[in-house]
Amino acid sequence: MEKPERMANVEPVRLGPGSKFKFDCHPGVKCFTRCCKDINIILTPFDIIRLKNRLSLSSEEFLAIYTEPQILEKTDIPVVTLKLLDVEDSDSESKACPFVRENGCLVYEDRPTTCRYYPLGVATLSNKEDPEGEEFYFFVNEPHCRGFEEEKEWTVAGWRENQGVDIHDQINMEWTELVVRKRSFPPNMKWTEQTKNMFFMVSYNIDKFREFVFESSFLKRYEIEAAELENLKEDEVALLQFGLRWLKWLLFKEGDFRMKEGAGTAG
Ligand code: SF4
Ligand code: SF4
Repeated sequence: MEKPERMANVEPVRLGPGSKFKFDCHPGVKCFTRCCKDINIILTPFDIIRLKNRLSLSSEEFLAIYTEPQILEKTDIPVVTLKLLDVEDSDSESKACPFVRENGCLVYEDRPTTCRYYPLGVATLSNKEDPEGEEFYFFVNEPHCRGFEEEKEWTVAGWRENQGVDIHDQINMEWTELVVRKRSFPPNMKWTEQTKNMFFMVSYNIDKFREFVFESSFLKRYEIEAAELENLKEDEVALLQFGLRWLKWLLFKEGDFRMKEGAGTAG
């Protein structure tokens, strides 16, 4: 899955963790914050949890104020992107990230995964798309980005560590896997509207999913250990990962969800 959506000039170089490149980004570069304008950033589930907590919003409020829903054209997957704001600028730009300021990113410590990877992109291919099924990296390489003129040298692995990408990828792993698997379905195998709604709720609206688990008939239908339930009440990341495992079970019958006797159909 190609996480960054700013891909017009993707350089066809397949990079691995040890690949080296020269790059630096700091307030002294001429293009500072230029990459936060005219962009299309798909948010991951963990991005939304971090950002809505940073802004002290519910997930519902965050979605309403800062995002736009989209259906990915070829794959029919519901995603959300950062909603850009109109800006009046000396150059011709007309849209910018709501969190960009003259001195940088307002939510830097909690910035989305795509912003962390930039100027790299990451692609995760299914076995069908690439028998090796490996994750690899590439340069997004937009012409306005002058960071490549700087002297600081990185490996891809060093950049990922420096930008705190690993924890994001680890928490989003089950979600990425679901998206990659869905993408490899034949085009006529569509998700139902109900499945898309479930995927949307678990992936992006964690507060609604918490209500769904604790205030619907969910707990009458599934066997869940008391200790795990307590943890799910307190820990949003655990709740997200639980939800993604549940979706995997619903969609592929994989995993260890147990229905209570006489609970009827899943869902
Ligand atoms: S979240 Fe921050 S780094 Fe990402 S586009 Fe917006 S301002 Fe730039
Ligand atoms: S365009 Fe490149 S160098 Fe300029 S601020 Fe963005 S990432 Fe940094």
